[in-house]
Amino acid sequence: MAETVKVTFWGTRGSVPCSSGEKIRFGTNTSSLEICLPSHRRILLDAGTGIIGLGNRLSKDGLLSAAPLHLFLSHFHWDHIHGLPFFKPAYYDETRLRIYGRKGVESVFSGQLLDPFSPIPHDALTARIDYVQLESGVDMDGARVEPFEVNHPQGCFGYVVTTGRSKIVYATDTEPDGGPLDDLLVEKASGADCLIMDSNNAVDEAPSRRGWGHSTWRDCTKTARLASVGRLVLFHNDPFHSDEVLERKERDAKAEFGDSIVAYDGLVLNI
Ligand SMILES: [Zn+2]
Repeated sequence: MAETVKVTFWGTRGSVPCSSGEKIRFGTNTSSLEICLPSHRRILLDAGTGIIGLGNRLSKDGLLSAAPLHLFLSHFHWDHIHGLPFFKPAYYDETRLRIYGRKGVESVFSGQLLDPFSPIPHDALTARIDYVQLESGVDMDGARVEPFEVNHPQGCFGYVVTTGRSKIVYATDTEPDGGPLDDLLVEKASGADCLIMDSNNAVDEAPSRRGWGHSTWRDCTKTARLASVGRLVLFHNDPFHSDEVLERKERDAKAEFGDSIVAYDGLVLNI
């Protein structure tokens, strides 16, 4: 039990946070995950608005100086970075934050904190922040985080996170197109304990959204079966899908792949 990896979903929507009375159960924050290793080191995936709640909790619990925070960005579309200017740990001297990502990662913060888009200047960030353009995997505390390419406009990384006893695959913002990246996703997800995958589009929406870089629940269950994963988490929920639509998505997915769940803000999985 001590070796269990704890995955907390702080934000599970795509595109934009969009609140309404019909979207209570699944939440409205955009993509952000926390993976807590058995060593208590934290690996963060993406910095949508979900990361704001995580930052508040780390600050409140006095965890900023405990260990460096490692944040892996899938890509730089807004819904994966727009929580960053509100990530409290970035404004504390004791924080060490390492941000990993694709080419251009070093300007992810400075590009957001610009006049006239933000009243906060870049030099207000007093944390020690390092940027790493990923070419290969990163090892830490017996875990490995490995990027791989998925099919999305302007490019996007999926990540394979392996620890001593578990394998988690994060594949947000990806669209099957019948090309080699479909095969690569199945290969990377092969045998994973948990596949977290983009399920943005309803099946009947997909034809009019071709080329937008997103999947349906049916694409997810197909990938999960081909890769023989243990558990499927349907992620990157469309911001305009109500609780009712997402509950139906979960029922439909379960009928094709039994161990399926639709991600919601606050979901915690021990893997
Ligand atoms: Zn997205």
